[in-house]
Amino acid sequence: MGCSKNLYDSEVLMGQLKANDMDAEHESTKDDANIVVINTCGFIDNAKQESIDTILRFAEAKKEGLVEKVYVTGCLSERYKPELQKEIPDIDDYFGTRDLPKLLKTLGADYKYELLGERLLTTPSHFAYLKISEGCDRPCSFCAIPLMRGKHVSKPIEDLVREAQSLAAKGVKELMIIAQDSTYYGIDIYGKRRLAELLNALSEVEGIEWIRLHYAYPTGFPEDVLDVMRENPKVCKYIDIPLQHISDNMLKSMRRGTTSEKTRKLIETLREKVPGIAIRTTLIVGYPGETEADIDEMKQWVEETRFDRLGVFTYSHEENTHAYNLADDVSAEDKELRANDIMEIQQGISYNLNQQKIGKVFKVLFDKVEGGYFVGRTEFDSPEVDNEVLVDAENQYVRIGDFANVKITSADDFDLYGEIV
Ligand code: SF4
Repeated sequence: MGCSKNLYDSEVLMGQLKANDMDAEHESTKDDANIVVINTCGFIDNAKQESIDTILRFAEAKKEGLVEKVYVTGCLSERYKPELQKEIPDIDDYFGTRDLPKLLKTLGADYKYELLGERLLTTPSHFAYLKISEGCDRPCSFCAIPLMRGKHVSKPIEDLVREAQSLAAKGVKELMIIAQDSTYYGIDIYGKRRLAELLNALSEVEGIEWIRLHYAYPTGFPEDVLDVMRENPKVCKYIDIPLQHISDNMLKSMRRGTTSEKTRKLIETLREKVPGIAIRTTLIVGYPGETEADIDEMKQWVEETRFDRLGVFTYSHEENTHAYNLADDVSAEDKELRANDIMEIQQGISYNLNQQKIGKVFKVLFDKVEGGYFVGRTEFDSPEVDNEVLVDAENQYVRIGDFANVKITSADDFDLYGEIV
């Protein structure tokens, strides 16, 4: 369940099980497993509900004798273990986000330290997530992640380079850099930000062709990263940087440590220092105290800024977060309305931006065949969340996992169509 960081943990778990000669399968559709492990998400309401529904489904399957053992791990379990044990006692055991050795022991496997960074990939073999740190030190008022993932802990550069080398040896060409806060990288173990250095070190790994940066944080943004992005052809001109809001009133209450003016300045700097950069952001609407004026300011800002990619979350009132002390005073209807309004604006912007790509040629990495098309991405698109490039499979051929140059022939709101040149 949940985010790419959780998926990474599942891959590590499966890598360990495999090294113990245990047969593990990810999201198996066959009901032939006798043990099920559910790696849950505890982030916000919808995600929590999805995790609880999955736990209940397998608790039921166990009662019906379809599976022998069901174990639960991950963020929801980390956050609500006592409540879950009481409410859903049929589960064999609940584990936290830092309990891998304990979980493995319960599954009859030994934790193999020498496997550091080794995983069973669940992504297509040509790209992989690379989690560069765990946890977060930020005080964002609405966020429960630090409660579930703990303090920020960076992985040493040499370990990450070794991990990238082993991934490249398996055929990985694209690394998705992930963390709770990737721009904080290095402060804890090196006393300073070293993300720029890490990106350069990873780009020297033979076989790696694209390195993509996700989960950047606006406050104290390390601008040397932009120099690397501009000058190093292997580092995609792409940045995922959740900004959450633009009104000073909201940014202050959210404890984001930044202002409207600084946020606007940062976006200018991203575009000045890395011409042609694709910016993905995430926003929250319906946060406690959000006024019509706040949301109007956000709408106008989204219109003006023309983000390349944008996602919106409706505020979720999370226990034990700082914002939980505030009144959740925006109704569910208004939250939905505000989210829809923002996405409508973005849909129009995305359509216009895509029209400007018609006639241009892009280097595309092909991920899959679907609906009669070869489906790939440009360096400006991350898997599953951004645009896709569709090439008719009827009269053209490209191997999945290969790059090819594609001339864009047409476009719609979120996808591009083209032919291989
Ligand atoms: S940076 Fe803020 S929103 Fe992101 S994980 Fe940390 S506390 Fe949560």
